[in-house]
Amino acid sequence: MASVRVRFAPSPTGPLHIGGVRTALYNYLFARKHSGTFILRIEDTDQGRYVPGAEQYIIESLRWLGLLPDEGPEFDGQYGPYRQSERKSIYREYVDRLVAEGHAYYAFDTPDELETMRQNDPTFKYDAVTRKKLKNSLTLSTSESDHLLNTSDHVAIRLRIPENEVISFNDEIRGHVSFNSSELDDKVILKGDGMPTYHLANIVDDHLMEITHVIRGEEWLSSTAHHVLMYRFLGWTPPSFSHLPLILKPTGQGKLSKRDGARFGFPVFPLSWDGDHEEDNFTGFREDGFLPEALLNFLSLLGWSPGNDQEMFTMDELVEAFSLEKIVKSGARFDIDKALWFNQQYIIHADNLRLAYLIQDKAIESGYHVSVEYLAEVCGLMKERVHKTHEIISSARFFFEAPHVFDVESMKKKYRQEHRNHLEAIGNILIKNDSGDPETLIKDHIAAQNLKMGEIMPLLRLSVCGTMQGPDLMKSVRLIGNAESGKRILDSLPAYDNLS
Ligand code: GLU
Repeated sequence: MASVRVRFAPSPTGPLHIGGVRTALYNYLFARKHSGTFILRIEDTDQGRYVPGAEQYIIESLRWLGLLPDEGPEFDGQYGPYRQSERKSIYREYVDRLVAEGHAYYAFDTPDELETMRQNDPTFKYDAVTRKKLKNSLTLSTSESDHLLNTSDHVAIRLRIPENEVISFNDEIRGHVSFNSSELDDKVILKGDGMPTYHLANIVDDHLMEITHVIRGEEWLSSTAHHVLMYRFLGWTPPSFSHLPLILKPTGQGKLSKRDGARFGFPVFPLSWDGDHEEDNFTGFREDGFLPEALLNFLSLLGWSPGNDQEMFTMDELVEAFSLEKIVKSGARFDIDKALWFNQQYIIHADNLRLAYLIQDKAIESGYHVSVEYLAEVCGLMKERVHKTHEIISSARFFFEAPHVFDVESMKKKYRQEHRNHLEAIGNILIKNDSGDPETLIKDHIAAQNLKMGEIMPLLRLSVCGTMQGPDLMKSVRLIGNAESGKRILDSLPAYDNLS
């Protein structure tokens, strides 16, 4: 097999949806597996849908995830430019060839005329039947066509779909796929402004960039019939095609949409995005406290299965195990609980200092100006207890400030009047022995007073942390400091006094 060249070809029409991230991942894995080349191509020919900042967003997302292209805008490569808007002059030659050889034609219908058609017949499509009655170079005389070509503002070039033909191709995932040409419309391939549409630019670039495998979302399956025809008309060998299954809503019903994030309360984009309107602002997985390797591991199994029950994969293991044959045909349900589980596993195994750097901004935002080393210690104690990185802060505020509120219900359950003196005594011992080992200090007092650990420890935890939840108490006190913990114990006495 020729050396593998695959591309991820997003359109910069907004933030990159999680389905797009999965497509990038599968292309990346396939390229790595076959020692091939992973290309990023920006498909920005539709100027009407172009969104400033989207390309940067795509590149930043790929960088965050470590899915670095070998070729692409901002990367190397001998096949550039990698932005279709910069390749406008390249496409003309091919469209002219299609017209000259009778596989494409000029269409002069105005947008208003086409709109009227659609209103009169909602099923209207510009195709082998309707084109016979429409305003195009197939129905008009040469002189009428030439006149319109020179004078009309609405000249599009359409692909001439053959009549009554079965167009078939092989899909690596779905097997033999066929369409009857009557199902296909005469797609516009070049617009009045001289810009190609997706269909033309896509196949010309796949050919010129020597793409060997097209791996993309299922929504492009029917377009592939058009593409296969164009390859044939231009005398080119098509690449192999693989159409990935849809990512479904958590309910399993219907495609996961960009609005589902807000609806179900989880991110569907890798990074946060600020749109023009409130409803177009999205929180990303990164900002929501996910580690990129957790997101990749989760996505790798959303439509692909290794064939055994292994779930945790390093990138190298994924590259090793990945194959197109093991991609599933049916839609893959987006299960956020599974994503959270992966994230928890990766947080547990992550280096504490790395975690600390990741949550440093969140700490500062909360007004906690602690050293990154301190934060790393907190991460070490908390990481088994969270699903998202920033929960290390939100669920352990007692590492940064004395509790403002106490779990009064637990206090009521655990506290009796005779405990008061002991709490006070332990508080004072800790204050006086700031550098001593808190465990020894506390245990010595408990032993000398003939107390039970199980009686005093929960009260100390409530005093120092405000809550019954938290990591090992002695480790926590060591980190918070004896003097500070002792002070908190004394300061909590009024709260015990006020229990009714
Ligand atoms: N530009 C298309 C998209 O936005 C690419 C489809 C393909 O990979 O051919 O998804």
